[in-house]
Amino acid sequence: MKIICIGRNYLNHVKELNNQISKEPLFFLKPDTAIQPKGHPFFIPDFSDNIHYELELVLKISKNGKNIDERFSHKYYNEIGIGIDFTARDIQEECKKNGHPWEKAKGFDGSAQVSQKFINKNSLDLNNISFKLKINQAVVQIGNSKDMIHSFDYIISYISKFYTLRAGDLIFTGTPSGVGQVKIGDKLEGYIVEEKMLTVNIK
Ligand code: MG
Repeated sequence: MKIICIGRNYLNHVKELNNQISKEPLFFLKPDTAIQPKGHPFFIPDFSDNIHYELELVLKISKNGKNIDERFSHKYYNEIGIGIDFTARDIQEECKKNGHPWEKAKGFDGSAQVSQKFINKNSLDLNNISFKLKINQAVVQIGNSKDMIHSFDYIISYISKFYTLRAGDLIFTGTPSGVGQVKIGDKLEGYIVEEKMLTVNIK
């Protein structure tokens, strides 16, 4: 399976990092080794001094597809979960400055935290899914799918022009504003609406 991540999909986050809005979805990959076994804590890697959390809604692809017409994108995913796209922000800044790919900053072990639980999309209003991240009980990020620049359906259609999507692939759909650094001892909890979906302890 592969993990595809969309960048710069919420205007308030694009602004907080002083980035440009991209007309088409900006995406990158994480290897499957970025996912950790269930319940495993996240160990801050020693190659970075600035690991950021980015809470994101995650689509689970349910059917293989290529060149998917946007009208039919909804047939290719049934479930939505939540994930944290951990980012070595210091390394990413260096990559950006040098025009290098981001994978070193984005694809390291543990960088894709994904909820065990997924919610059937039919029980959600896809254009109005609220989600939030708490760190040590304080809310640090609040997002809503209605604020996405590129919709789920457009993202699936667009990515499938380049990559064949396979059942089990995951798509991280971008983070809202409020990203920040994690510290040893932090407890991160991700929610969809009021349902706790994911807990990650930082070591
Ligand atoms: Mg992200």
